[in-house]
Amino acid sequence: MHARKRFGQNFLRDQEVIDRIVRAVKPEPGQHLVEIGPGRGAMTWPLLQALGQMTAIEIDRDLVPMLREQSPAHGQLEVVEADVLGVDFTELAGARMLRVVGNLPYNISTPVLFHLLDHAPVIQDMHFMLQREVVERMAAPHGDKVYGRLSVALQARCKVEKLFRVMPGSFWPVPKVESAIVRLTPLHDPEREALAPALDRVIRAAFAQRRKTLSNALQGVLDPVTIASCGVRPDSRAEQVPVSGFLELARAWQSIADSQAPA
Ligand code: SAM
Repeated sequence: MHARKRFGQNFLRDQEVIDRIVRAVKPEPGQHLVEIGPGRGAMTWPLLQALGQMTAIEIDRDLVPMLREQSPAHGQLEVVEADVLGVDFTELAGARMLRVVGNLPYNISTPVLFHLLDHAPVIQDMHFMLQREVVERMAAPHGDKVYGRLSVALQARCKVEKLFRVMPGSFWPVPKVESAIVRLTPLHDPEREALAPALDRVIRAAFAQRRKTLSNALQGVLDPVTIASCGVRPDSRAEQVPVSGFLELARAWQSIADSQAPA
């Protein structure tokens, strides 16, 4: 048995943790669940037993034959051999909403989260195992020192719930960091989905220089008068602004962009 570092492989081997994750996901027959990175099936088999059928996306071609061979004992598993970052979840969903689960490779966890946000309208919920620090950032409230771009981008479009911590000894090979399970439930608010590019523009600039005041950090993006008209103090720093404030700033940026667009 070996583990590939470049695919971020740390396999779950703690049955209690696996059972706890499955209880948190609460899979029910008829739901369309997609697992990212099934590995050797630690979470896949109990999920598949509860669901009867599901989909798994695995990049490591050496693991795919084993998954295909062992799956019939548990249910009907569709294994997609692919890089998750290239998978079109909207197409995969078809007419049915997706539930997404994954013990994500830590080296690509942020790009995977942003990729899934692009498909939020077809996603019912997501449960992920991630580095604990990443989960802290995702769920951080404004004013917290780890509140940042990831917190705002996710919380503007999803309910973010930190569920429980998982210790390094629950994996093989044992990672250097602690992990945690997080649940993301997309809000499915069409106005916020449409606003996502504008929000991204604003928060990229705001958090690029987090020690600067907003009026400085947003120079060339929004002027101080417009910032103030959004109910946000231009002399505040990005980490002090709640998600609702960033949404107002994004709306202001969008309406200026719309007014400047050629007719
Ligand atoms: N789910 C298994 C478990 O809990 O034991 C394995 C988890 S391991 C942390 C991450 C898994 O994601 C590995 O199986 C790895 O091969 C797979 N993986 C890594 N990068 C991937 C990518 N870009 N697309 C799809 N799967 C990937």
